[in-house]
Amino acid sequence: MFNHPRPSVNQTLRLQEIEGELEIILKREDQIHPDISGNKWRKLKYNFQHAKQNGHQSVLTFGGAFSNHLAAVAAAGHQYGFQTHGIVRGEELETQNLNPTLEYCTKKGMVLHFVSRSLYKIKKHALASVIIDDKYPYVIPEGGTNELAVNGCAEILTSADKEFDTIAVAVGTGGTMAGLIQSTYDHQHVVGFQVVKDIEIPSRIRTFVSNDRWSLVPTYDEVGYAKTPKSLIDFAHCVADQTGVILDPLYTAPMLWHLIKNWKENTWNFGNRLLMIHTGGHQSIKGVNQRLAQQGSSLRWPC
Ligand SMILES: *Cc1c(COP(=O)(O)O)cnc(C)c1O
Repeated sequence: MFNHPRPSVNQTLRLQEIEGELEIILKREDQIHPDISGNKWRKLKYNFQHAKQNGHQSVLTFGGAFSNHLAAVAAAGHQYGFQTHGIVRGEELETQNLNPTLEYCTKKGMVLHFVSRSLYKIKKHALASVIIDDKYPYVIPEGGTNELAVNGCAEILTSADKEFDTIAVAVGTGGTMAGLIQSTYDHQHVVGFQVVKDIEIPSRIRTFVSNDRWSLVPTYDEVGYAKTPKSLIDFAHCVADQTGVILDPLYTAPMLWHLIKNWKENTWNFGNRLLMIHTGGHQSIKGVNQRLAQQGSSLRWPC
């Protein structure tokens, strides 16, 4: 039941800018499931298995209005037979038209509960404030990172990936990176491109891992989280045109953009051949394009 339907393949990224110098092999985790994208499937696998084994009938989680995690939980609940509940940050959203992410969640059967930002900050209080028909939902934290999620992400790398010294991944909460770190061989180093400013990421990762073969590279200063500047959109088009790969606006595009920038500026310290995880996240593109249109921009993220 909890098997991903499609294999994860490694694909060489052929980009003119780096051809013959920097070798990037993309692990296409974005293709392993049609609805539950990339690392989110990995993170949810053992959580849903646990929920099923323990007789839970519903799953509850938290997220912002454009959250990939929320969309993944809704899709997984739909597929595996759970009622899902999403506690969404921002009570003002209740009276607005649903954005594509929240509309998708609803279509997959998720019940949305909108709470104020202050209430949302303290998850226990947010949880206590919503009325649901199930007393014992299985609760998954915001972003989905817990021990079971990390165990799922430890299955991303296979023994065939042993040949790589450097593994690159985009970091939101750090759960995916923690799983990768846990599953590396002694000669491997994991580089996480941190897209959000969250000072708790290193300590969170340390609670799950037992080696120090990892580094964080911040990307939020230059690209900004969820800002999608023109330079990033142009870059995503360039990658799509040359390689056929669609990157997502929040995680994988900032990661690759930043890597190439560091490479050009000679500030990249992690080798010239790397395995980069495409963690998916395509569901956010619709919302980004809708926002660009609303702002009167003629730019669109490739899709
Ligand atoms: C959620 C997400 C991440 C971040 O995963 P964490 O485990 O929270 O660090 C990376 N890439 C994509 C596409 C995501 O949706």
